[in-house]
Amino acid sequence: MTLKTTKTLNPRTGNFLAQEYVLSTPEELNEKVTDAQLAFMVYRNTSGNERAILLETIADEIEAVKEEILGITTLETGLPAGRIQGETGRTLGQLRLFAEVAQDEFWVEAVIDTALPDRQPLPKSDIRKCLVPLGPVAVFGASNFPLAFSTAGGDTAAALASGNPVIVKAHNSHLGTHQCIAAAIARALERCNLPKGIFSSIIDEGYELGAALVQHPGIKAVGFTGSYNGGTALLDLVSKRKDPIPFYGEMGSVNPIVLLPSALEDPKMVPTLISSINMGVGQFCTNPGLILAIEGEAAQHFCSKMTDAIEQTLGEVVLNRAIYDKYEASIAEISSEKACALLGQGTKAQGALAVQPSLALTSGKKFLAHPKMAQEIFGPYSLIVLCEHHEELAEILMQIEGQLTLSFMGEESEFEEQAHLIALAQEKAGRIIFNGVPTGVEVGYAMIHGGPFPATTAPNSTSVGADAIKRFARPVCFQDAPQSLLPMSLQNENPLEIFRKINGKWSQDKI
Ligand code: NAP
Repeated sequence: MTLKTTKTLNPRTGNFLAQEYVLSTPEELNEKVTDAQLAFMVYRNTSGNERAILLETIADEIEAVKEEILGITTLETGLPAGRIQGETGRTLGQLRLFAEVAQDEFWVEAVIDTALPDRQPLPKSDIRKCLVPLGPVAVFGASNFPLAFSTAGGDTAAALASGNPVIVKAHNSHLGTHQCIAAAIARALERCNLPKGIFSSIIDEGYELGAALVQHPGIKAVGFTGSYNGGTALLDLVSKRKDPIPFYGEMGSVNPIVLLPSALEDPKMVPTLISSINMGVGQFCTNPGLILAIEGEAAQHFCSKMTDAIEQTLGEVVLNRAIYDKYEASIAEISSEKACALLGQGTKAQGALAVQPSLALTSGKKFLAHPKMAQEIFGPYSLIVLCEHHEELAEILMQIEGQLTLSFMGEESEFEEQAHLIALAQEKAGRIIFNGVPTGVEVGYAMIHGGPFPATTAPNSTSVGADAIKRFARPVCFQDAPQSLLPMSLQNENPLEIFRKINGKWSQDKI
């Protein structure tokens, strides 16, 4: 049988790189899911400490080959070295954060209601609950985060931390990066003496195998980062399964920024916004794609400064042909659109897939009449919407779909005056930012990178930060279970020394 292969594109030259990658077959997919199911039998019983060691070892193995990764990822993505180094650091940080989360085991949310055998008229049972892993998780990474939201990215780290095997659908834009990271994970599993089936991956051309992966009965949850079209297509397949499973799709967002009057006059505002719009060639899910302000002299002056500034920018190459084609078509559509005007464009840098950073302008009325304008244009683009008054701005926030972030720029007194807008923002976004741009997502314990649909398909979750671990677990309660059969987090002796809710009160005590 001849093996089918594929290649990745160099976005700077527009040519394919020499390395060939063998495409997976449906039979291999089945084998990998079976291996993951078998590995789950072992992995689900590992302690938080063992999982922490695995995650730390993966981080160490990736760190050991970071120069190799830098070389490959630069070629495949066209991203500058500094950006890839930064993303590598973030990926290592995520793995180590989840190691910490796995180790302290507080995330299992142990709750214990002790028995009341003498209760009248009926005795009360001993009931204890905690979170347990779901089983093999399918992970789809995004093109714009070849490391932090890909093979060993946040979803993989969170799923491994909670005791689940992972099968990654490798992103076709960065297969070399994927292979390098997958090999690092395999070495880590070997060093930790854990089954190989805890991590595997498939390479596909087209969407057939990815679709088969999310429909496979052995897969128990999906973590997806990518486009609205990709996320909703896979969600549709998952919901048609005989046993629909949790699907965590993190998709696009326009991340509105509301400029209150003082912000329009702030000399730092224009450079801050322009640099955020152009960061990573605009290829961030947190790119500020919508800027809202109230019409007037200050707003006109702000628009002309933004126009001058965007015209000074240099647009680098985007990650792949699909992103390039879609961006160019969307900007061409705006140019021919009557409802909104192209204010200004930067110049293209050298490179086959280079694009021009672009800024457009419309009125609040037109924006409300043309909902398409509220959709993400993936790349260095933003739309300024000038509203007639605050009521129109509030109507826009009311109509807008779910967002990852919503920012307010101004002074504290202005925020207080517009408290109703800030209350409204909580219904619309996962992260509300004051005097800051949405690009740059801290990875920590309190971060929420999520939001109502269509920003995500699961508004009660986050894909960044410690709480991301909870997506790949489910609660189980044990009634009158013998001590020896309880998970360690629920045992009387509290061997993990974690905080537990015992009869309604937080405590680290033994029972
Ligand atoms: P994408 O085209 O949706 O690809 C993501 C993954 O899904 C790839 O592996 C892709 O396969 C696969 N896929 C896409 N459509 C599919 C379908 N119909 N059936 C089966 N598999 C499918 O997204 P992208 O271009 O990589 O990423 C850019 C988008 O991601 C932007 O919209 C951005 O805003 C969003 N994003 C969101 C976040 C967040 O946290 N919310 C973070 C980063 C990026 P192939 O490899 O074969 O193309």
